[in-house]
Amino acid sequence: MPLQDIPLTASANGILDEQTMKKHCVLSKVPLQIEIATVLEIGSGPSPPQWAEDSSAKQKTDIYALSGKWGSDGDRLISGLTSVLRVSGEWNSTVLPSATYWGQYEEITKFNTDLNIAERLWTAWYAWMQNDVLATGIMSFMMHELVYFGRCLPWIFIDTLGLFKSYKIQNNKIPALKEQWDCAKFVLLSHFTVELPQIWFFHPMAQFCGLSTSIPFPSLWTMAYQIAIFFVMEDTWHYFTHRAFHWGPLYKAIHKIHHQYSAPFGLAAEYASPIEVMILGFGAVGCPILWCVFTGDLHILTMYIWIVLRLFQAIDAHSGYDFPWSLHHFLPFWAGADHHDLHHEKFIGNYASSFRWWDYLLDTEYTPDALKRRREGKAEAKKAQ
Ligand SMILES: [Zn+2]
Ligand SMILES: [Zn+2]
Repeated sequence: MPLQDIPLTASANGILDEQTMKKHCVLSKVPLQIEIATVLEIGSGPSPPQWAEDSSAKQKTDIYALSGKWGSDGDRLISGLTSVLRVSGEWNSTVLPSATYWGQYEEITKFNTDLNIAERLWTAWYAWMQNDVLATGIMSFMMHELVYFGRCLPWIFIDTLGLFKSYKIQNNKIPALKEQWDCAKFVLLSHFTVELPQIWFFHPMAQFCGLSTSIPFPSLWTMAYQIAIFFVMEDTWHYFTHRAFHWGPLYKAIHKIHHQYSAPFGLAAEYASPIEVMILGFGAVGCPILWCVFTGDLHILTMYIWIVLRLFQAIDAHSGYDFPWSLHHFLPFWAGADHHDLHHEKFIGNYASSFRWWDYLLDTEYTPDALKRRREGKAEAKKAQ
């Protein structure tokens, strides 16, 4: 089929968007390699991709190999096309993208042996969904729900079965199942009404800010150092906003809801006013986005792993249990459960989320050690007078 016979529409600026191309591939029932050549003709972004003939292809058709970048919007297009191009070597014009997710996965696996399992699962998801906003939205929401409630489950069992009582920080206040259920209903309502609409806008915003969704994934080292930076950034944001929330009028209007439980439990981590969820949540989402705006280097997968770890941190900090194997016994600057449990019990001090340094530096720490330090400091000051 001659290229010019394929009815393909491009956006106003002449750049073919991924959505249009995918839809067209499925609907028009033409070999994908012709689609690719068509993109070659239409694509004319600010820094267009470089095309070259793929000499390894077995069929003598319009097959092109692709390299280079095509701006943030083009990233996904390029990764999608690269997969298609690898397929095109043995392409049969009657074969079209599979209708099922696993069919899609198998197609990708067959021709992309250099991708690891996670990368294949990822690519198959986006290829199968054929709508990146929906793909990212569903994946983000499901991940958040599974991780949140999944991580809370062990704590619910521990409380309900009365396990590890000796490690419970406020051991006379074990939450009843009914109390936990009421809390879970409130959190679920908040997830569907406050967080879901925001998650919906996440993909367009991420694309606008240059987050990558392409394959291959970044290296473990890149993900690790970026996540460490996000922990430090978010902790700083959390310290100052949380401290502000304890100012009388803001406390009454916003933060009081979160302090309904003076002896917290896992599910209470996101039990908060919608305004608080948005403002504190900005630290978790806004810090990586800010990082990406300045460095131009962030993969959405890194963002997911960061969010998962931050959820674990928040739920464990509210768990109400401090074990001898808890992280802060090995990393003294890690906040941990006893730090935040005291905040809920005393309503004062320990404002940071992950680390202890801001509370230490600005003298808002509320721990037995800090109280002792303060007492000694006062006694010395008296002596000096
Ligand atoms: Zn508070
Ligand atoms: Zn709390």
